[in-house]
Amino acid sequence: MLLKIIRKFSSAHRLPHYDGPCYQLHGHTWKVVFLIEGKVKENGMVHDFKVLKKLLDAQLPDHQYLNDLVENPTAENLAPYLFQKVNQALQPLELKLKSIELWENENAAAVFEG
Ligand SMILES: [Zn+2]
Repeated sequence: MLLKIIRKFSSAHRLPHYDGPCYQLHGHTWKVVFLIEGKVKENGMVHDFKVLKKLLDAQLPDHQYLNDLVENPTAENLAPYLFQKVNQALQPLELKLKSIELWENENAAAVFEG
């Protein structure tokens, strides 16, 4: 069974190798779409959505400077970084992250599948 959960976070970054306005410090409110795989348990749930939302939020770099975490924090570089972090956090719950969509605005996203 697959669960889809959407979260948001705000952060600042700059793209050091970009020849254009994104070279400058700026911010985004990112939308992240998580696709999580797990077995449906006896209670009819894969896992409590409330618990999962809390776990996912704890992994997101809200109000952080993304260049401190990833050298060149494009959406394409951030998506695998977040994927690995979240997938590790899901392991103790016997859940797997299938994919992550990182939307930097309403029209553009990087998609990473593990
Ligand atoms: Zn940006």
